[in-house]
Amino acid sequence: MLPSTMQDDYQLTLRPILEYGRTVHAESRVITYTGEGYVDSSFAEVADRADRLAAALARLGVGEGDRVGTFLWNNQTHLEAYLAIPCMGAVLHTLNIRLFPEQLAFVINHADDQVIIVDASIAPLLARVRDQIPNVRHIIVKGPGDATALGDGLLDYDTLLAAEAPGYPYPQLTERAGAAMCYTSGTTGNPKGVVYSHRSTYMHSLMVTSTTNVALAQHDRMLVIVPMFHANAWGMPYAAWMVGADVVFPQQFLQAAHLRKVIEHTRPTLTGAVPTVLNDLLHNAPDTDMSSFRGVMCGGAAVPRGLIEGFRQQWDLPVMQGWGMTETSPVCTIGHPPKHMGDLSETDWRVKTGRILPGVELRITDDSGAVQPWDGVALGEIEVRGSWIAAAYYDPDGQSNDPGKFHDGWLRTGDVASVLPNGFVMISDRAKDVIKSGGEWVSSVDLENTIMGHPAVLEAAVIGVPDDRWDERPLACVVLKPGAEATADELRAWLTERTAKFWVPERWSFVTEVPKTSVGKFDKKVLRARNQAGELDVERLA
Ligand code: ADP
Repeated sequence: MLPSTMQDDYQLTLRPILEYGRTVHAESRVITYTGEGYVDSSFAEVADRADRLAAALARLGVGEGDRVGTFLWNNQTHLEAYLAIPCMGAVLHTLNIRLFPEQLAFVINHADDQVIIVDASIAPLLARVRDQIPNVRHIIVKGPGDATALGDGLLDYDTLLAAEAPGYPYPQLTERAGAAMCYTSGTTGNPKGVVYSHRSTYMHSLMVTSTTNVALAQHDRMLVIVPMFHANAWGMPYAAWMVGADVVFPQQFLQAAHLRKVIEHTRPTLTGAVPTVLNDLLHNAPDTDMSSFRGVMCGGAAVPRGLIEGFRQQWDLPVMQGWGMTETSPVCTIGHPPKHMGDLSETDWRVKTGRILPGVELRITDDSGAVQPWDGVALGEIEVRGSWIAAAYYDPDGQSNDPGKFHDGWLRTGDVASVLPNGFVMISDRAKDVIKSGGEWVSSVDLENTIMGHPAVLEAAVIGVPDDRWDERPLACVVLKPGAEATADELRAWLTERTAKFWVPERWSFVTEVPKTSVGKFDKKVLRARNQAGELDVERLA
């Protein structure tokens, strides 16, 4: 081997990124919607406050490697924590504010959070577990609201910052040091924690700015809808800071009417959200002026064709579908139609799960572990590896290496997909949602997409239910648009024209809402339980 002559020991940490945004993009904006007005700060002001936060935390005894929890909406304070905590050598632990109390107490204790920063408006949610988290030494409260439910000894965020000076002496860190941690939402069992390193965060942020991804740049203004507790808001805050893109934070105001107001006032160019939120905007605020946008990122769940078509028709905007998971920082694919589109339309390409990004190696394997070809037909479980992919879950007693998830340096994702020769991935299901009818796979994702393409349908979730003849058959749970009408027969006819015959469900249930997880995805576990308990009104067609 010929040794390189490069500075290969240069550490990829977030500190130089903090300094870069502070100086080079001093005038870029961080805008937080308060429900009534806006707080508008410059990057220089935010960096100054991040310094003060680091100093205040150090004064409270937070040292290198200590975990600091955030129980915050998407807002400027959260960005200050994103910058200050990793750069001072501590670890940012973004807490999912929608977890059930038992799970919330579990993750705080498992991560051993020393300090928690909380928005006063959600203090009562944290108060529910206050007596179960004895190692939390300090709670810092931000903003107006009554936090007394959290007991005595609370510290006020702004008072702490006011007592400090900017110019914190950030330490030199190694790139392998933990920068942030995030727990999966724990659909089965307790949530599992991933510790992102400075290096993984640096690499992932760079990639978010790449043209192969959404090419986030200084001219952009990013509306950060996906929660900052959900896989680092898909890397958007760090990436925006890195390139000087303005950021707009909507806090808790994610209903269509609020979003419309924020969009028309702040005129973003990009946003990222799960399908539910974008669907809500499309159907409940279709006259929103979206002319400032150049596109929207959507992911976290399969993006329905109707949403992609709806954004094109209504606003002439492309929906860029991404796929990833907490364990992958999260972004691994993004769906820009390829140079050679062949017989497929632009929408056909956008409906796919996206194209593998450079820096992510991806393969699919069958039940025996054999690697399957990228031929667009063979199905297998997706496995990935790369510099922003987890190698293990966090375990206070050393790193656990669950062989069910991590093997040979690959992460097993639990997602079943086929891959085209040009690197486009098509997820057909999560392994745990897979429906096997007479030994054949039925893709609930495809069925949902097609049903949601029907003009009368707002949402559809398909689950597997036991069947005497076929072992399992799909049951379609459908939410109609307000005022719209459609019968199970009509929807069956719609499907029959568009999918494989044996996929078409006989069982239909019209529901008022599809239950959602804490991050807004369809919660099929709850649907399956409701069906098992006989709570769904199921119509069975002949
Ligand atoms: P949770 O497991 O709680 O949903 P994550 O947010 O980490 O936590 O979810 C990752 C999962 O979301 C992926 O493994 C995949 O099943 C699903 N997912 C994400 N993006 C997409 C997409 N574009 N299409 C289909 N499924 C997706």
